[in-house]
Amino acid sequence: MDIVVSGIRPTGNLHLGNYFGALKNFIKMQEENHCYFFIPDYHSLTTHPTPEDLHGNVKTVLIEYLACGLDPEKSTLYIQSDVPEIIELYLLLNMNAYVGELERCTSFKEKVRKQPDNVNAGLLTYPTLMAADVMIHKAVKVPVGKDQEQNLEMMRTFARRFNRMYKVDYFPIPAAYNFGQKLIKVPGLDGSGKMGKSEGMGNAIFLVDDPKVIRKKVMKAVTDNGPTAMNQDKPEVIENLFTLLKTVSAPDTVDHFENLYHKCEIRYGDLKKQLAEDIIKFAEPFRERILELSADNDYLRKVATNGAEKARESAAKTIKEVREIIGFRKF
Ligand code: ADP
Repeated sequence: MDIVVSGIRPTGNLHLGNYFGALKNFIKMQEENHCYFFIPDYHSLTTHPTPEDLHGNVKTVLIEYLACGLDPEKSTLYIQSDVPEIIELYLLLNMNAYVGELERCTSFKEKVRKQPDNVNAGLLTYPTLMAADVMIHKAVKVPVGKDQEQNLEMMRTFARRFNRMYKVDYFPIPAAYNFGQKLIKVPGLDGSGKMGKSEGMGNAIFLVDDPKVIRKKVMKAVTDNGPTAMNQDKPEVIENLFTLLKTVSAPDTVDHFENLYHKCEIRYGDLKKQLAEDIIKFAEPFRERILELSADNDYLRKVATNGAEKARESAAKTIKEVREIIGFRKF
């Protein structure tokens, strides 16, 4: 049983991309590993949310984690800020994290470019906090997408550096979790190629969206004027719609529309209607569970409290040992 750590930043509702790209894998992982799934609320402070937004978004992600099938009995489910040991490790790791290497991170450089007015130290040391999240449980595996490879490399550097500096073999060097299949990217509805919150409201379908909203968003999806020659390749916006269809619809439905496309007989309106209905069918149980859980604050509190307790047990052990290694010792 490998120790695995992962989390999704609480910035709003989860969409189909988050589900197929992350949550679905988390659910599989929890069956075979010792998983720590958390809500990185400290991380989200780099964007300066209001207290109401911060609290609301943490609650939303907790509810949606549970609605997707993350099982607090099988994995440890917790909120980052409930585990102060992470922050102590973050501070300790920062003492050996060099400004130069942090400044060279692609994600940091991108933030500097995108938000020059808010280049805070939290952004610079984001990779150290990520390393602390993983190292606090001495995790060996981290599920990462392509965009996170550099952050994983930083974690590996920090773990190796600690071991070398104190001449110990204490921290495992975390590796990418291998899903045994290609990571999927769910396209958005606006033709941009990726479903995401930041790409505009009509682009993403959220698990909590009701049927009316789903129909409206799908009917507005970007298309072209239709194929003009038999068996022609699909342009990207159309390929994206088919990719969405493949994620939620039955194979014969996909074949049906593929055939129509190749015969130049496709009507995008029909494809969109079918896609909307299949998304609704897929999302309905999630939505019901989200609504149920939203009304059950006692259960949410219980999950968060138990999760924090379990996570702190593991974290406190690590911190105690790390303090000893570093030389914080009792007289
Ligand atoms: P967003 O792009 O909406 O801000 P995040 O960047 O917070 O979402 O991503 C959270 C998790 O969901 C990550 O593991 C990321 O790889 C996954 N994810 C997000 N969007 C997609 C997508 N369109 N396809 C596949 N996975 C995605």
